[in-house]
Amino acid sequence: MSNAKSLEELEQKQDFIRRHIGPSPAQVSDMLSALEVSSVQELIDQTVPASIRLEQPLTVGQSRTEVETLSYLKSVASKNKVFKSYIGQGYHPTNVPHVILRNVLENPGWYTAYTPYQPEIAQGRLESLLNFQTMTLDLTGLDLASASLLDESTAAAEAMGLAKRVSKAKKANAFFIADDVHTQTIDVVTTRAEQFGFEIIVGKAEDAVNHDIFGALFQYPTTSGEVVDITDLIAGVQSKKAIACVAADIMSLLLLKAPGKLGADVVLGSAQRFGVPMGYGGPHAAFFATRDAYKRSLPGRIIGVSKDRLGNDALRMAMQTREQHIRRDKANSNICTAQVLLANMAAFYAVYHGPQGLKTIAQRIHRFADILASGLKAKGIALKHSTWFDTLTVVSDNKDHVIARAIAKGVNFATNHEGEYSISVSETTTRADVAELFDIILGEGHGLSVDAIAADVEANGSESIPASLVRDDEVLTHPNFNSYHSETDMLRYIKRLESKDLSLNHSMISLGSCTMKLNATAEMIPITWPEFANLHPFCPLDQAEGYQIMIGELHDWLVNITGYDAVSLQPNSGAQGEYAGLIAIRKYHESRGDAHRNVCLIPSSAHGTNPASAQMASMKIVVVNCDKNGNVDMADLKAKAEEVSENLSCIMITYPSTHGVYEETIREICDIIHEHGGQVYMDGANMNAQVGVTSPGFIGSDVSHLNLHKTFCIPHGGGGPGVGPIGVKSHLAPFMPNHSVINVPGTNIGNGAVSAAPYGSAAILPISWAYITMMGSEGLKQATEMAIVNANYLTHELSKHFPILYRGRNNRVAHECIVDLRPLKEQSGITEMDVAKRLQDYGFHSPTMSFPVAGTLMIEPTESESKGEIDRFIEAMVSIKGEIEKVISGEWSIENNPLVFAPHTQGDVLGNEWDRAYDRFYAAFPVPAVAKNKFWPTVTRIDDVYGDRNLVCSCPAVETYRD
Ligand SMILES: *Cc1c(COP(=O)(O)O)cnc(C)c1O
Repeated sequence: MSNAKSLEELEQKQDFIRRHIGPSPAQVSDMLSALEVSSVQELIDQTVPASIRLEQPLTVGQSRTEVETLSYLKSVASKNKVFKSYIGQGYHPTNVPHVILRNVLENPGWYTAYTPYQPEIAQGRLESLLNFQTMTLDLTGLDLASASLLDESTAAAEAMGLAKRVSKAKKANAFFIADDVHTQTIDVVTTRAEQFGFEIIVGKAEDAVNHDIFGALFQYPTTSGEVVDITDLIAGVQSKKAIACVAADIMSLLLLKAPGKLGADVVLGSAQRFGVPMGYGGPHAAFFATRDAYKRSLPGRIIGVSKDRLGNDALRMAMQTREQHIRRDKANSNICTAQVLLANMAAFYAVYHGPQGLKTIAQRIHRFADILASGLKAKGIALKHSTWFDTLTVVSDNKDHVIARAIAKGVNFATNHEGEYSISVSETTTRADVAELFDIILGEGHGLSVDAIAADVEANGSESIPASLVRDDEVLTHPNFNSYHSETDMLRYIKRLESKDLSLNHSMISLGSCTMKLNATAEMIPITWPEFANLHPFCPLDQAEGYQIMIGELHDWLVNITGYDAVSLQPNSGAQGEYAGLIAIRKYHESRGDAHRNVCLIPSSAHGTNPASAQMASMKIVVVNCDKNGNVDMADLKAKAEEVSENLSCIMITYPSTHGVYEETIREICDIIHEHGGQVYMDGANMNAQVGVTSPGFIGSDVSHLNLHKTFCIPHGGGGPGVGPIGVKSHLAPFMPNHSVINVPGTNIGNGAVSAAPYGSAAILPISWAYITMMGSEGLKQATEMAIVNANYLTHELSKHFPILYRGRNNRVAHECIVDLRPLKEQSGITEMDVAKRLQDYGFHSPTMSFPVAGTLMIEPTESESKGEIDRFIEAMVSIKGEIEKVISGEWSIENNPLVFAPHTQGDVLGNEWDRAYDRFYAAFPVPAVAKNKFWPTVTRIDDVYGDRNLVCSCPAVETYRD
């Protein structure tokens, strides 16, 4: 009896594992036969070098069912105390419109998409991002905006970087930060400056002009809530040929004059309070805008308008040549994954409410601040400032009493400045809340009536916004912000955009290095639970016990999985993790009197973020060659390590290599670097080929970032969010990021922050937590093994038709492979781009194109794809090969074939003209399988050059819709 029960239980436990892993047991055995091995084990033995195989299984526990996992996590989450937050400081409660909550945030059509590298099948999110940019431009009063940065504080650090690049004050090496900028922003910008070797001066805003600076940062309104006319401050900074940057509150900009109109060169801030939950710190999108003149210096991605082959408007990422994929250490920033999903939410919030709705929300917030101020002043309470938008700072000699009363009522104020506390009202504040605030601050029996004060404020108006700063121009006049205010219209607009985009809910996205695996629904459920979604990142720790437990467990599991000793969850993307890891290395060397060690060795095959991050840590980059098999050229490595020995800081190496093989020499590489006193930074983007089988710590590396949005199931969101935690060996642990508002245990007190929030994008950590819980030690290892089986099966089948560029031992690959299209291109003139676009007609997103080798496709199927789906992809590739052969044989000319005309839209195929060498049906339905699941690209091939020559980065004017 008890046996039968435990068997039943066992089957249930296996439930999630077998759902996460795509191939059925029968499919696995078919693939193994194709590979001529008798077991998964045999394949792994052939593939993974014995010297790096883990001797011990993981200890993250046994897999748990979806139901068990969510019920346990709910009990953990319920330990969080969701207080009413008036903390402000860049994070505010917001009402997420339900139509956006369900149809965007909780919708795989939106959250499983990748960065829009294939714009013809991404016009939906590109339009939404263009809305985000247009909204940014209107509200900031500037010329050019990017499609989201990681958070307000890192955006401020990017502004400093931009200021240094474009300022004509070439001799200046100092950046000024007004002392009333948000504390966490001062922290993050200071960290960045320290790495760049810039001096930071923090002082009274009026003092900026008295320093030799290349730029300055002001907060508008200030962190304590004052609304100051910064026109003269900006002019003063500019009189020194320095760049004036302003961090602004997005909601206040509905009522306040745009900083761009006051003269600012850069305006940035968080779009969180536009309908994105606080989530204990993130993820949220930052907005960033600057002058047109600085467009080549703008950090992050920009969406631009171009034309497709038929002359229709079509959107795509503009000026890609500024970014790390191309410019590497000369890129404007290391940002790769950004915050697309959250930028889309904020943009939709603006679309849904429209200019009038937003203004009403902002006015209501401001009115409540006025009412609160008026009541307090009537009772003789001293306010620090005479102007405000939403935040009042009370100068208080009974602060402790007030805070105790607030806590007792489940209310948080901002308390981190001595002798004062601040109250920020928000969209969620009600009249009853204001009455409660009076009770807290004044004690009960104060006799104030909110209704009476409200009537009074309404009758007499208020001067809390200086007349010179009252906004008088129209914003968000574009039809996109004035058309979808009923829920029906909004629902359809969201759906219309969604259906233009190919996401994981349509077909596999085999982007090598990006690990587009299953983002299970059960993993996604917790992120919108109020217990996780509605916590302010600076709330007292004892209110975040649930978060601390969940984060603590995730931390310990990641320590176990990586073979390191400690993990920091603060970095909010892989590239930010690289940066945090390099800072740890630098500080470690400095702590040993080795500050001169500044050379970073990077193999030529490295991801562009590696050199871009090394440059941010002021390291000197020396490139190490790869040999003809794609491995690090050991002779070259030894010679270069020898050459720079005294000054060697570290190597940055990806494992398995970006060429998709387990290099046999990896331990030797670690030893060589260590012998020369250097540290090993292992880029962990390829952890999907390591988990449970080997680990960076076990191999001998010192520090790695992980991409939780790759290996650990956080969805890519169409280009973010992500989480890029770093794992380190114990000697580096003291040098991991800290935070100046909320201390992060386990690291040195003085360490700066790399993200605005102490735990970065905490709200999405439950996804990775749930994945690990449901897979357990055994399931995680199985996932890695199946990723290797799938990749080798795909490689084996494709190798019958295409050369595979690199292979490892026994002719095997790791979890991805590179198909070399160059020989076919030489024979036919058909490019890798043509193949990528033609794949769209077959219903697939192209694999990674031309990284790490130009003219190739890098394919990573992941463990989540079934053999059926992989076979469909192979069928498409083989069919495309046949098409190329027809070009080679002359049956089709190079000008007239389905590859160069790909992708085909409905309009193209059904149009009145048809002068192609192939028929219409074949254009759209080249193999029978397509008919069952046809995906129509909505524009034909996009002209990138045209778009960059005629740069338009906001919603096209209404006239273009008319013609
Ligand atoms: C994805 C990736 C990165 C960068 O990660 P982001 O989260 O996009 O910043 C770095 N290195 C490699 C090898 C990657 O694949």
